[in-house]
Amino acid sequence: MVVGHVDLHLHTTASDGVMSPAEIVRYAKSKGLQAIAITDHDTIDGCEEGLSEGEKIGFEVIPGIEISAEHSPGSMHILGFFLDVHHPLLNERLEYLQKARAERNPKMVQKLNQLGIDVTYEEVLKASGGGQVGRPHFANVLLEKKYVRSFQEAFDRFLKKGAPAYVDKFRFTSKEALHFINEARGVAVLAHPNTLGVSGYAELEKLIVRLVGEGLKGIEVYYPEHSSAEVAQYKTLADRYNLLPTGGTDYHGIEKNELDIGVGRGDMKLSYSIVENMKALRNRS
Ligand code: AMP
Ligand code: FE
Ligand code: FE
Ligand code: ZN
Repeated sequence: MVVGHVDLHLHTTASDGVMSPAEIVRYAKSKGLQAIAITDHDTIDGCEEGLSEGEKIGFEVIPGIEISAEHSPGSMHILGFFLDVHHPLLNERLEYLQKARAERNPKMVQKLNQLGIDVTYEEVLKASGGGQVGRPHFANVLLEKKYVRSFQEAFDRFLKKGAPAYVDKFRFTSKEALHFINEARGVAVLAHPNTLGVSGYAELEKLIVRLVGEGLKGIEVYYPEHSSAEVAQYKTLADRYNLLPTGGTDYHGIEKNELDIGVGRGDMKLSYSIVENMKALRNRS
């Protein structure tokens, strides 16, 4: 049991998670957590269902999102917590992202077909279960149709950046993403900084300074893929720039890897005080 603990990075069927928002809320409660944030990729479509299930069963759910921002050489994801899900600008920007995805996905089907792989867009749509369509759904179809032996092989051979079926997706700049998160009264947090691909503390610090200028309020310090050295580094940066240290497991569902909600690979324990700090910050602004 992890009484009094939280998980602030979770995916549902609204993006590429395995559980529906209601299911993940019930699962979190059954695991003894005190609160969770629903942070689907580029969509808030799972938030309402999660919030209403939370109300129904008496469990705190934070409406959130994870936005992919333009960045190289690695990837930059920005989390937003406590979003006003009805905010017009937020909704307009997210609709734009959905349109961009709707153009990208058929192109990936076409590329797979050109490689001699018999996959249809309908099959991918079906694999997505009605939520937003992304590469993990392509991977599941390739796996199901036995073109690959594992989910990971689908990415390595076909879907990862630079692989033959990859098509880039539209991304907002960090400045744009931070702007609309802040406009919707969200608390903006840099997700898993270890995927940025920046080398060394000085370069990371420079990037953080830029993001703070654009409206960043926190850093996801605690994350299953962070080494203890990385955690220490991100905590130092959070302290230095007065950023909220947050954390979460990035749980996508049981099939994907060995992670579990709340505890990650078993050693995560995130205090509810993180949520209280976010609320205090939000009330000040
Ligand atoms: P998309 O938003 O369609 O570009 O898909 C991105 C999602 O694919 C990420 O959120 C991950 O869940 C998954 N993903 C991306 N790169 C990889 C990779 N190299 N191996 C496994 N999964 C990946
Ligand atoms: Fe994902
Ligand atoms: Fe991410
Ligand atoms: Zn995530």
